Amino acid sequence: MGDYHTHTNNSDGKATVEEMVRAAKDAGLKEIAITEHGDAKWSGGLERKKYSMVRALVEKCGEDIGITTLFGIEANITGSAGQIDFCEEDYDKVDIVLCGIHRLVSPANFISFFTFTLPNWCRGIFRCWSKSRINKNTEIVKRALSENNIDIYAHPNRYFKVDVVEISKVCAERNILIELSSKKINFRPIDFERMVAAGAKFIICSDAHTPRRVGTTAKVFDFLKLCDWKPESIVNIDNTFKRKDRHISGIKIEKLSGKEEEDDVHPKNKKRNKRDKRNKKSRK
Ligand SMILES: [Zn+2]
Ligand SMILES: [Zn+2]
Repeated sequence: MGDYHTHTNNSDGKATVEEMVRAAKDAGLKEIAITEHGDAKWSGGLERKKYSMVRALVEKCGEDIGITTLFGIEANITGSAGQIDFCEEDYDKVDIVLCGIHRLVSPANFISFFTFTLPNWCRGIFRCWSKSRINKNTEIVKRALSENNIDIYAHPNRYFKVDVVEISKVCAERNILIELSSKKINFRPIDFERMVAAGAKFIICSDAHTPRRVGTTAKVFDFLKLCDWKPESIVNIDNTFKRKDRHISGIKIEKLSGKEEEDDVHPKNKKRNKRDKRNKKSRK
């Protein structure tokens, strides 16, 4: 099993890369992804200029400790048009991109502050979520996931409320994995079953900010006891997890037929694919 959502003291985690990678090894994991927060997050977002430096550190720790490591970013949704704080030109500097909503994040622009950030802050404080607010948030997340090349949709519903079943349809279409967070799952078993029925695939992650939480899964399995589910819906359980999935490796792979995956039709993805091909050639 691998853990694909963890933080270090390069963002708001409490431990060093080495301590987190060692914790993964000690927990018997096969892989760990260090996924720092995008730079719009007020506390501990990782500056873009540091991506390469942290990635090199993550790789070195993996080699020294003897475990496969990935470096990634947990991008923030920052605007009402689905903007995120991850730039297309940085895909080459990461192995994996998560995307989710966080509370204390700089808005993409003035309009977004009044139409996305502020109303959600207020509703969050008073725990009062209207149907129209949920629908607006759902459209924003769908747009963010449709217009960017995302591997994992992080902790659905944790901060701003959305319609997770609607979003799962986009995730299914675009092969975006949905996180089952061992910190807390913020949707109901019935929602999970509906998401599975929509064709979505899931991944269990810890969102660990300390070494002792790396690789934890207990809360997820407690939740799954309440659900009707099959192991093939979750990509990183034992041998059902397929490392070749491009949404984990960040590396373009081809289907068994030899054809490229069809979800990459967005112009941004086309660009990324071209770049992947170029990189492949230069590696040969
Ligand atoms: Zn998060
Ligand atoms: Zn996180």
